[in-house]
Amino acid sequence: MARYSGPVCRLCRREGTKLFLKGDRCYTEKCAIEKRNFQPGQHGRDRKPKIVGYGIQLREKQRTKRYYDILERQFRNAFEKASKLKGITGENLLALMEHRLDNVIYRLGLATSRAMARQVVRHGHIQVNGRKVNIPSFLTRQGDVIEVRSKSKQNAGILAACDSTASRPAPTWLEFEREQLRGKVTGTFKRDELVQIQLNEQLIVELYSK
Ligand code: SF4
Repeated sequence: MARYSGPVCRLCRREGTKLFLKGDRCYTEKCAIEKRNFQPGQHGRDRKPKIVGYGIQLREKQRTKRYYDILERQFRNAFEKASKLKGITGENLLALMEHRLDNVIYRLGLATSRAMARQVVRHGHIQVNGRKVNIPSFLTRQGDVIEVRSKSKQNAGILAACDSTASRPAPTWLEFEREQLRGKVTGTFKRDELVQIQLNEQLIVELYSK
């Protein structure tokens, strides 16, 4: 699956908010949003674009998509799926994002960023319900047990990530046994727990429904 491989701090500066794409660095004063919170590019400092209507909806969609570190086609497909589910489409969309295996690995603290989480999954370090799964977009469900495979339990990158994320608690719909490097999906995503970033998913629904 294709992925964005350009400079990620630039994306945060474009959206004017932290998207937490670089792991530990995002929590330090080295974060580009802390140092240069203005639009990227030669005239970024002077440019204060006034956005209205469609532009606001577009920016909200871009911000959400970039926060979850996925590209347009996958995001659009997720929206189509969300719109067919029962309930509020915007919340369904966020739930589909949150229940992706790469996001769950990130939320459990087995990776410091979603990019790292995706690599951890891709490289075959993870099993779900005892079976190896190397598809980052795999959708986890309530009751799934997600675990680092036994041959990867000593993986230095994963252990270091666990140490650096120890102070960040997993959401209440996930359970994590740090010693065993094992997590469980105990419930479903709760909208009010998404506090790391301000998102207005209704604007995305309005945009895609045009
Ligand atoms: Fe870069 Fe992370 Fe700061 Fe975004 S939040 S600007 S990715 S360091």
